[in-house]
Amino acid sequence: MSMGDSFDEECDYLFKAVLVGDSAVGKSNLLSRFSRNQFQLDSKPTIGVEFAYRNIRVGDKLIKAQIWDTAGQERFRAITSSYYRGALGALLVYDITRRATFENLKRWLHELREYGSSDMVIVLVGNKSDLANSTREVNIEDGQSLAQLEGLSFLETSAMENLNVEEAFQSMITKIHEIMSQKNL
Ligand code: GDP
Repeated sequence: MSMGDSFDEECDYLFKAVLVGDSAVGKSNLLSRFSRNQFQLDSKPTIGVEFAYRNIRVGDKLIKAQIWDTAGQERFRAITSSYYRGALGALLVYDITRRATFENLKRWLHELREYGSSDMVIVLVGNKSDLANSTREVNIEDGQSLAQLEGLSFLETSAMENLNVEEAFQSMITKIHEIMSQKNL
């Protein structure tokens, strides 16, 4: 798998994926890392969502991933079903230094399953791993067992230090591509 840099190339597949999780877990920073600063961090609109594109080559296919970010709407519990509609993948993000963001994952999972596609690929992401030695409140084992229980992939990431960010998105995109190919879409 390799990354395509041109955004003008014709793509073979286009799909939508969403970022979900509590406020300030690092969703915007994960997305800006992944989309290589083609995402405006400091221009959060007060209404609506934001999204970024990234082209990825899998074999001979060019995939364009359109990744949506909540743009802070989760703070007001203002995420509507249209945010999830048609999404084939999700990064479900918590902050390993704030236990409450882990406890709230059930609510986010419920929303994903209620409004997202039935075979949505969900990757559980414990962000801020750079703070693991100082202020960790969620053990890696807790993330692993939740992922196992719910049938999700799991990774700890650091958007700040750019650890595992690429891997988290890639694992979601590769699985979505597999599902799409099986369906011959
Ligand atoms: P969002 O509300 O979920 O989109 O979260 P943001 O991306 O806006 O990040 C919230 C805060 O956490 C900001 O102050 C970021 O600088 C910080 N942050 C995000 N990711 C990391 C990380 O991996 N490590 C650390 N130490 N801080 C992070």
